[in-house]
Amino acid sequence: MEDCLFCKIIKGEIPATKVYEDDDMVIFKDIDPKAKNHHLCVPKSHFKLLADMTETQGEMLLKCFKKIPTLVKELGLENGYRLVINQGDDAGQSVFHLHIHILSGQKMGWTPA
Ligand code: AMP
Ligand code: ZN
Repeated sequence: MEDCLFCKIIKGEIPATKVYEDDDMVIFKDIDPKAKNHHLCVPKSHFKLLADMTETQGEMLLKCFKKIPTLVKELGLENGYRLVINQGDDAGQSVFHLHIHILSGQKMGWTPA
């Protein structure tokens, strides 16, 4: 999608510190970390909300959930982590391209749950 920040990162039009990429997803560091380690796992297909997701996009999202636990060393998650998906304004979603927050380590004032 043309005006989407994360689509631009996926296309390489905006820089990001990418730590993993394949045909289905990209994982990069959050620019404003809310925990000691804070990455975003972003499916490459653009959709705003879980409610908008097609079956194919759902398969892509499942691949994200299956990949994240295999990247514990690269993402610094050896001692545990939490996954967060904000859905809509009241959840504080600010980028409307669905993404999974991967948070690990000391909290820095952001308590999504
Ligand atoms: P959300 O509020 O759930 O939509 O999460 C959006 C996340 O994207 C926030 O944690 C932001 O800090 C992060 N973010 C915004 N712009 C960038 C960027 N250019 N590179 C990396 N992360 C970003
Ligand atoms: Zn997008």
